[in-house]
Amino acid sequence: MADRRTFLKDSILASSLLLATPARATAAVKRASARVVSTWDFGVAANAAAWEILSKGGRALDAVEAGARVPEQDLRNHSVGRAGYPDRDGRVTLDASIMDEHGNCGAVAAIEHIAHPISVARRVMEKTPHVLLVGDGALQFAIEQGFAKEDLLTPESETAWRAWLKTAHYDPVANSEVKSDQATPAGGVRGDARNHDTIGMLALDAHGNLSGACTTSGMAWKLHGRVGDSPIIGAGLYVDNDVGAATSTGVGEEVIRNVGSFLVVELMRQGRSPEDACREAVARIIKRKPHGVKDLQVGFLALNRHGDAGAWAIQKGFSYAVCDASKQDALIPAKSTF
Ligand code: ASP
Repeated sequence: MADRRTFLKDSILASSLLLATPARATAAVKRASARVVSTWDFGVAANAAAWEILSKGGRALDAVEAGARVPEQDLRNHSVGRAGYPDRDGRVTLDASIMDEHGNCGAVAAIEHIAHPISVARRVMEKTPHVLLVGDGALQFAIEQGFAKEDLLTPESETAWRAWLKTAHYDPVANSEVKSDQATPAGGVRGDARNHDTIGMLALDAHGNLSGACTTSGMAWKLHGRVGDSPIIGAGLYVDNDVGAATSTGVGEEVIRNVGSFLVVELMRQGRSPEDACREAVARIIKRKPHGVKDLQVGFLALNRHGDAGAWAIQKGFSYAVCDASKQDALIPAKSTF
């Protein structure tokens, strides 16, 4: 009897060890190399903040929120957060969205007076049964959550807006980091990285989990109440932990029409590389708008679950920043159709 008891005890111990070992082995195999990517040159500084978290084994969701907050508070950046260029009526309205590894998501659109819309988007995701809050409702929620109500229009942005008012001509130009001194009727400079841009950030953490964040002041001089692609889940941002994540920048109306980021993720699910998926999503936009696309900029950025990144844009000049254990400040020019 005693032998039987010992045998049973030993075999239970052995089987629990057997069960435990493969689980640990799986965890070890799953351990991924952390990586963060984000749109445009200002993504380099944003990635550095995200990397602080990722390099210590932190969660991708915390990394993308921390990263997106960097351009939101940068007064030199007129396309994201505080100091963003205002709408036609001189009001700074901001859009942001966030999505985690479980498919949870939150967003705010056309929110005013809140310097960090990305953090409000996260609260929408975590504290409400909703996905998207807009305008006054988003502001009311943010204040209830303890965010400070502030004036986000800086003197510099106001001066630019007053200069634009002289013509009040709305002309969203093909945006790129390639500067030129060709003035546009919008009062900006053709290819001026300041008149519209978005930070879209995608991160893979050491646990193999993906998250994404996207935040912008949208198109300068837009109609009051205009919402772009950035706070629309599936358009400006999409994350599927089994496949990959995607984000976009450029003229949001075209991205919404084509549900761009969702499309990029679905193309990766079908086996395309991140770059090829982005190229195909750009091709869809061009196909729907064969005339007039040359003055339009849209760029997609994708990161798959293995950590491979890729991007594609309609026009030259889009770039994305990459940060991982091997290199912290790489800025990579995206390929483009034109
Ligand atoms: N996609 C943004 C919007 O349409 C702007 C941009 O990224 O340039 O609001």
